[in-house]
Amino acid sequence: TTIGTLFEQTVQKYPDKEALYYVQKNIRYSYKEWDRQINKSANALIKAGVNKGDRVSTFLFNTEELATVYFACAKIGAVFNPVNFRLSAEELKFILEDAEPKVVLFEKALLKQVEAIHAELPETSFWFVDQEVPDFAADYHNEVESARDTRPDMEVNEDDLYAIMYTSGTTGRPKGVMHRHREMVEQSLILISGTKLTANDRGLVTAPMFHCAELHCAFLPRVHIGASNVITHHFEPKQTLQLIEEEKISIFFSAPTMWNMMLQEDLSNYNLKSLRLGLYGAAPMAPALVHKIHEKFQTSLIQAYGMTEMGPAVTFLTEDEQITKAGAAGKAILNHEIRVVRPREGGRSEPDDTVEPGENGEIIVRGPCVMPGYFNREDATKNALYEGWYYSGDIGNFDEDGYLWIADRVDDMIISGGENIYPREVEDVLYTHPGILDAAVIGEPDETWGEKVTAIIVKKDPDLTEEKLDEYCRDSAALAGYKRPRRYIFMEELPRNASGKMQKFLLRKKLEEAAS
Ligand code: ATP
Ligand code: MG
Repeated sequence: TTIGTLFEQTVQKYPDKEALYYVQKNIRYSYKEWDRQINKSANALIKAGVNKGDRVSTFLFNTEELATVYFACAKIGAVFNPVNFRLSAEELKFILEDAEPKVVLFEKALLKQVEAIHAELPETSFWFVDQEVPDFAADYHNEVESARDTRPDMEVNEDDLYAIMYTSGTTGRPKGVMHRHREMVEQSLILISGTKLTANDRGLVTAPMFHCAELHCAFLPRVHIGASNVITHHFEPKQTLQLIEEEKISIFFSAPTMWNMMLQEDLSNYNLKSLRLGLYGAAPMAPALVHKIHEKFQTSLIQAYGMTEMGPAVTFLTEDEQITKAGAAGKAILNHEIRVVRPREGGRSEPDDTVEPGENGEIIVRGPCVMPGYFNREDATKNALYEGWYYSGDIGNFDEDGYLWIADRVDDMIISGGENIYPREVEDVLYTHPGILDAAVIGEPDETWGEKVTAIIVKKDPDLTEEKLDEYCRDSAALAGYKRPRRYIFMEELPRNASGKMQKFLLRKKLEEAAS
């Protein structure tokens, strides 16, 4: 099975069932109608010279065009490369120069970024999906309309490359994760069984489709099983709640910040009875927030922990565990194996060098969804893959009941006087101070201790001082003495990537530059 053939199987089973509703352009397709559109899009790509193995990038919000070209690529063996729509022109250029796509689809809302860089990519065609097509671009819908709607005659294999998806760039430059059809068919099956998905489900696509969490854990499994997808251009809390009511949505995925934004609304204004399951993940979510969602949405919840390299899901925290194990990442998904190995010091730890329950170490994973490697990045691939295991760079531990808990990232861990310190623990204490808006804890080189704990603070209260903060940390029962920050630095704002994750490597670089 490939991503293209699973789609065609669904078309055969449910030709007249509603497949897709794209809210902003008011497009509704049955599976049969969508299939015709996908064939046209695939034939247009072929006409433009796209061959098997060529990349096709999208720089789009959630749109009908993204959903259609996704399956069009799968049918012709082109490699789908969805790019984060929040990236700046420079970041976009970095990815396009790396992926070297034949065609890039983009939209009006993102015209500025593409205008700034298209001239530097002379080998690439730019296709515009909206009206008022700029001079340098072709009209995607024109290309599609003039193409044939018959099934493109292409031999695509499970082992063919299916997509290149870039990581979020939290710990450095984004890396292009390669995936073949076989990994994503597996991932989709695991999600179908894990979320008890049926053809009667109605899903809402509101988290970004360029990210594997939405694309592979929510959108794709629903097409696979023959359920319906309602797609909305971008997340807006009120509209999301309204769509759940109007479209009788039964299942959807949201990142923790999105759930938090919906909780700020008056939920009694909406009828949310159709909702049977909410998915969350991609970043840590505070247990207090999980409890609130439970209470206000009256729905079941599943958390997924994972990363682009794994497709992404690695663990599920299922419904009945939400309360008893709130805050844990959960247990391995089907067919996957997780270990926690001694944290690396210089070299890598062997896969059987595991630590005891309760002890922190590096999380490693193996299973049928592991990426074959990073695109153009042999060194990074060698570093990440070893004897079938993916070394996640995340630190965590198993508790006595076999649940995985995430502590922090290997790159962010501080070793001071031989003791391991996880910045997230220190940050959690700092965040409880009412005068702090944002906080990051990093390790700075120190002659005596190897590294010392440094906190970078964005003030909410302008009168906040280093002395006041030090006193606060000394008084905190949650913070052992050696974890207490030895230095405080105040900044206007902290560097975060387009996914909202803190980029500590940039902070460390800044401090190094300031010191030299
Ligand atoms: P880069 O690899 O470029 O530095 P990134 O790791 O942030 O960026 P992603 O693949 O989007 O890129 O994110 C995966 C990471 O997100 C995981 O390794 C983990 O650190 C974090 N993460 C994902 N899901 C969860 C979760 N449920 N709870 C806590 N952390 C999570
Ligand atoms: Mg990563």
